[in-house]
Amino acid sequence: MALFSVDRRLAPGLGAALAGFFAAAIWDDPLNTIMSASAGALAAALAFIRSPSDTKPIVRPEPAREEEPQKANGLAPGQGRALLERLPMGVILIDRRATITFANDQANEIFGISRLIDQPSSSLRAPRLVEAIDAGVSDGLSGSVQFSLSRAQDIHLRAYIRPLEVPAPADRQSRGPTVLVVIEDVTQAIRTVALHRDFVANASHELKTPLSSITGIIQTLLGHARDDPEASERFLNMMSSQTDRMKRLVEDLLSLNRIELNERIAPRDPQPVRRIVWEVADALRQIAEENGMALEVDDASEHPYVLGSREELAQVFRNLIDNAIKYGREGTAVTIAVEPDSPERQDMIGISITDHGPGIAREHIPRLTERFYRVSVSRSREKGGTGLGLAIVKHILNRHRGDLEIVSTVGKGSTFTVWLPIAERSRRALSDQATAA
Ligand code: ADP
Repeated sequence: MALFSVDRRLAPGLGAALAGFFAAAIWDDPLNTIMSASAGALAAALAFIRSPSDTKPIVRPEPAREEEPQKANGLAPGQGRALLERLPMGVILIDRRATITFANDQANEIFGISRLIDQPSSSLRAPRLVEAIDAGVSDGLSGSVQFSLSRAQDIHLRAYIRPLEVPAPADRQSRGPTVLVVIEDVTQAIRTVALHRDFVANASHELKTPLSSITGIIQTLLGHARDDPEASERFLNMMSSQTDRMKRLVEDLLSLNRIELNERIAPRDPQPVRRIVWEVADALRQIAEENGMALEVDDASEHPYVLGSREELAQVFRNLIDNAIKYGREGTAVTIAVEPDSPERQDMIGISITDHGPGIAREHIPRLTERFYRVSVSRSREKGGTGLGLAIVKHILNRHRGDLEIVSTVGKGSTFTVWLPIAERSRRALSDQATAA
C-alpha cells in the first residue's frame, strides 16, 4: 500500500489558514479572513481525502511502511471520512459517473435536504455549481463559484471544485471519488462588506450636506452679501453651525472607531458608576433647563463599582441624557434612577434614564443602535444629532459586558436602561453590608 505523511501535507494547509487569519486581522477584512482561511482548510481537506482509507493517493508516495499502516498519517483507517464530517464547511465527493458518493452533514444542511444522493443536477439546485462540477468531472478542471440559495434570508456560498485524480482509460468505471467540492458559507462576510459599504456612503453623505451648505454660504458672502454687514453676520452664524455639525460628526466617527478597536479588551479599573452619572447629569443640567426641562437624579444608598473606563462610561450617560433632553417634552422632567435588582440580571447594576417625549414605535427599537439609524432624520438634524450616539453606547456597553434595554410607549416617553456587571469586590462588600443589616 502506498502511504504518505498527512502531517507534512496538512502543515502548509493549516499554515495557509493561520497566515490568512493573521493577514486578515491586520487588514481588518472579514471577507479576506474567510477566503484565506478556506484555502488552508481546503488544502487540509485534500490531504484527508487522499488518506489511505478513502482512495488511491495521487500525491507523491513515500516508501511503504506496511508494519504501521494506521500511524503513517496519524489517522486510523476510516478516520479521513470522520474528519471530513467534522470540517466546519460542506464537503461533497463525486465519482467519475458524476454521482455524489459522499456529503457531510454540513453539506446536507446547506442544501436543506436530509441526504444528498444521485446526480448533482437533481440535488444541488445551483446551476453554476453543477456546471463547475461537470467541468471538474469531465475535463479535470479546478475552479470556484459563488452562488446564493433562497431561504427566509438568502444565504451566499462559495464552492471550491478540485479534481482528485485523472484515471487511466481502463479505470473509467472507477467508483472512487474523482472530484472534491468544499463549500463555505460567506453570508456573514458579504453582509459585513455591505454594512461597511453603506457606512462609508452614509458618513460621506452626512459630511457632504453641511459642506455643500458652507460652499453656498461662501458664494453668497463673496457675492451679493459682500457689502451687507447684517446679512454677512447671519450667514457667518449659519456657517458656524454647519461647521459645528461637521465637527460633532467627525468626533463621533473617531469615537466609534476608537471604541471598536478596543472592544475586545475588557476594561479593568473599578469605577464608581453612580458618581460618574451624577457628574454627567450636573454638567447637562443647564442645557436641560434651557430646554424647559428638569433633570431629576434619584438618590440610592448603594454605590457599587463596575470595571470600566471612566471616560467611556461618562460618554454612555452623556449620550443617553442628551437624547432624553433632545427628544423630551418641554415642561417635563428627565429622571435618572437606579433600577431595582432584576432576577434576570443578577450581579448587575441598572441605571435608567426616563423622558416624557414622543416615545418610539416598536418597529424602530431593535434598529436604534445601528449607525445613522434615526426615526426621523429631519428631527435628529434639527436637534444637532449625528445618528451615531446610540451606536457608540452599544459598542461601549459591549466592551463593558453590559447591556442596553429600551422600553418606550408612543405618546408617553422612553426609558433607556444601562446594565453593567458589578465588580467582584464591590459585590462582596454589598453582600457583607446586607448581612450586617
Ligand atoms: P441622534 O444623533 O439622531 O440622536 P442617536 O444614535 O443618539 O442619534 O439616536 C438614534 C435615533 O433614536 C434618534 O435619531 C431618535 O430618532 C431615536 N431616539 C434616541 N433617543 C430617543 C429618545 N429619548 N426619545 C425618542 N427617540 C429617541
